[in-house]
Amino acid sequence: MENVISRRPFLKIAIGAGLAATFARAQEGKPAGKKVGWALVGLGSLSTNQIAPALQKTSHSRLAAVVTGTPEKGVKWREKYGLKESDVFDYENFENIANHPDVDVICIALPNSMHHEFTLRAAKIGKHVYCEKPMAVSSKECREMIDACDAAKVKLGIAYRCQFEPHHMEAMRLAKEKVFGELSHIDAGFGFKIGDPKQWRLRKNLAGGGALMDVGVYALQAARYLAGEEPETISAIETKTDPEKFAEVDETIQWQMKFPSGKTANLYTTYNLNGYNQFTAFAENGRFGIKRAFGYNGQNGWTSNPEIPLEFPATDHFQVQMDLFSKAIIDGTEWKVNGTDGLRDILACEAIYKSIAEGKPMEVEKA
Ligand code: NAD
Repeated sequence: MENVISRRPFLKIAIGAGLAATFARAQEGKPAGKKVGWALVGLGSLSTNQIAPALQKTSHSRLAAVVTGTPEKGVKWREKYGLKESDVFDYENFENIANHPDVDVICIALPNSMHHEFTLRAAKIGKHVYCEKPMAVSSKECREMIDACDAAKVKLGIAYRCQFEPHHMEAMRLAKEKVFGELSHIDAGFGFKIGDPKQWRLRKNLAGGGALMDVGVYALQAARYLAGEEPETISAIETKTDPEKFAEVDETIQWQMKFPSGKTANLYTTYNLNGYNQFTAFAENGRFGIKRAFGYNGQNGWTSNPEIPLEFPATDHFQVQMDLFSKAIIDGTEWKVNGTDGLRDILACEAIYKSIAEGKPMEVEKA
């Protein structure tokens, strides 16, 4: 623990400099008056309550168009966000966005099984893609999405907002720089009690999977980015308290991941419990973690050493991630939370489902 305390002045500078640089990068150098135009596909809960409001606060991004299957929604969105009739598209005439001069990015906020189709269609008309998590419902689909965007020379971003949230970014740094020594184990979980039994999240053909594909991927991602390496083998078990409601998708899954270095992770996801939402990273000389880690707000970081706080002001995750993506387009820079990152989660999910089906540990296919 000694070495941890003695590094404190350096850490304070590094934390401040690292995060300030990231956010400063999102603020600089856009061509005068030109914001990157985003078209939202699917005007459901996420688009309505998170993405569109965040786009009103961004510096480099703006809402330029919407795509909806419900004409009345198009009218409402036009009124609310000052869009023109020519800014509203439907799923059939989607390709006409090719001729919309202000749309640069297609943001896909549709049920999981539709991410693949709309990514391919967006790439075909030469637009950048920002795709909601989970990236798709199979690794085959993910690979096709990556190939389509590469061929079209457009960016493919996967909307893992926690990777741009200051508590998570600092936790990644604590792990990477071994501030508490070498990491050995990660414990993480995310779940909620799902309501309406008729919703698409409980239909396999639309969701691809249950709690794991929906919110378990946050715990999986956290374990991967804290470990700084990819899982090699996975053992998983599944339980269902309501086999009728969860006839098509998973309700609760616990899984263990082993990493090449010997690190381990115990992870949990469920559709049957509110408030399970945290991670703890165990290292040689201490521990750190985030309570309410994966929600839209309320992140509460802690460490085993009060001299090294894990505290930051609240941010709008959506505003930050969308602006950084727009900035990467303006600057022509690489986007790190890309298709390969999304694919790696889906490969791990496939190993989890296979481990449950076969009752034994499974190797995780490499991306
Ligand atoms: P939602 O059900 O509220 O909205 C889905 C939208 O898709 C609706 O507008 C609906 O009309 C449309 N749609 C088109 N075809 C459909 C079909 N066949 N069945 C059902 N809906 C259809 O869902 P949501 O919560 O907005 O989630 C959308 C996507 O965003 C999902 O992939 C989800 O995993 C992701 N999501 C991400 C976050 C995050 O924090 N990044 C949070 C919530 C949801």
